[in-house]
Amino acid sequence: MKKKLAVLLTGILLLAAVGCGNADSAGTKTADSTKQTETEAGGTISGAGAATQPVTTSEPSGETTAAETTAQTETTAAETTPAETTPPETTAAPVVFQDVDETVYVTDRVNLRTAPSLDSEIKEVLSKNVSLKRTGTSEEWSRVVLNGEEGFVSAKYLTTEKPKVSENQSGTGIYHEGGDILVVIDAGHQSKQMTDKEPNGPGSSTMKAKVASGTEGVSTGNEEYKINLKVALLLRDELLSRGYSVIMTRETNDVKLSNVDRAQIANEAGADAMVRIHCNSSEKSSVKGALGICQSADNPYCGDIYKKCLKLTKAVLNGHCEATGRKNTGVWETDTMTGTNWCEVPNTIIEMGYMSNPDEDERMGTEEFQRQAAIGIADGLDDYFGR
Ligand SMILES: [Zn+2]
Repeated sequence: MKKKLAVLLTGILLLAAVGCGNADSAGTKTADSTKQTETEAGGTISGAGAATQPVTTSEPSGETTAAETTAQTETTAAETTPAETTPPETTAAPVVFQDVDETVYVTDRVNLRTAPSLDSEIKEVLSKNVSLKRTGTSEEWSRVVLNGEEGFVSAKYLTTEKPKVSENQSGTGIYHEGGDILVVIDAGHQSKQMTDKEPNGPGSSTMKAKVASGTEGVSTGNEEYKINLKVALLLRDELLSRGYSVIMTRETNDVKLSNVDRAQIANEAGADAMVRIHCNSSEKSSVKGALGICQSADNPYCGDIYKKCLKLTKAVLNGHCEATGRKNTGVWETDTMTGTNWCEVPNTIIEMGYMSNPDEDERMGTEEFQRQAAIGIADGLDDYFGR
C-alpha cells in the first residue's frame, strides 16, 4: 500500500504543475496554423482562417472544425439569401411584435442582434441549443431576453421544442430538467485512466492522454475520482433545487469518457456553463487551498470566451472558498487543458483542495465538506448568472 502510494505520488509529481493532473498535464502550447483571432465581441473572425470563413455569423469560437464551418456557411447563406433578407421598405417600418412568454431554443448558430433588422449590431453569436426567454414574435423576428438583456433573433432559428441531449454512451451525459439555465457538471477522472491519446485542442498536433487517473489522498487513500463524483452529485441536487437544469457527464465511476468527450457533452447541449470538479496535488504536503483554472486570453482555441470563463472561474472559486473556509489561491490561466481547449461554452475547473495535504485530504473525505463544496459552487453559479 505504501509502495503503491509512493508510485502514485511519483506520478503525481509529474502532474503537479497542473494540479491533480486534471487529466491534462502541462505541455507546450502550440500556435496552430488554424488559429483564428477574434476581433470584436460580435464574433467576427479574421486572420488565417478568414478567407474561408464567413465573417458575419461566425461563432466566437477559435476552434472551428470542418463540420462547424459547414454549419456556419449554411447559416450565413440562409441569413443572406435574397428572399430572406428584409426588404429596404420593411427595414424602415417598425416590426410589430405580439407579446408572448415562452422558452425557445436556438436551432443553429445565429446572431443575437440589438434590433429586429439585419442591419443592426450583433450583440453576440448564440450557440445551438441555447435557451432563451421569448417575449415577442413577429413573422421574421423574435424578441428575446438573455441574461436580463433584450435582443432580437431571426425567428426561423428558434424552436419551442426542447433539444434532445445526445448520449454518446449509456451512463454519460445524463440530463436532469430543472429550469432555463443549463449547467454541465463534470466529475473529473473515472475509475480507469485512458492512456491512448487525443489532440490537446481542435486541430492541434499536440497529443495527450484521453484521461488521467487523478490523484489519491495522502492520508485517507481516497481516490480523487470518487470524491469528485460525490461533490458533483451533491451539486447536481443543489442546482436542481435552485431551478437549474443539469447535465452530468457521469454519475458513476465506471465510465469511459475522455476529456474531449466531456467537453463535447457541454458543446452539443449548448450549455450555459460547465463546471469541472477536481482535487489538487502537490509534491509539498504543506501546500493548501483551492484553485480555479481557465484558459488565457491568448488561447488559440477558446480565447474568445476567456472573459466569461474567467468570470465563471472567479465566481465558483469564491463561492467554494466562502462555503468551505478553504484558502483562495487564485486563478491559474493555462492553455494546456484538453477539456478547456475543446469546450465552446463558459467553463471552469475548480480544484477543491490538496489531497497531498493531510488536513485537506481528510476534510474532503467528509460528507460535511462535500456538502459545503456543493453549496459553495452553486453559490458561485448563482453569482455568475446574477441570480
Ligand atoms: Zn483531477
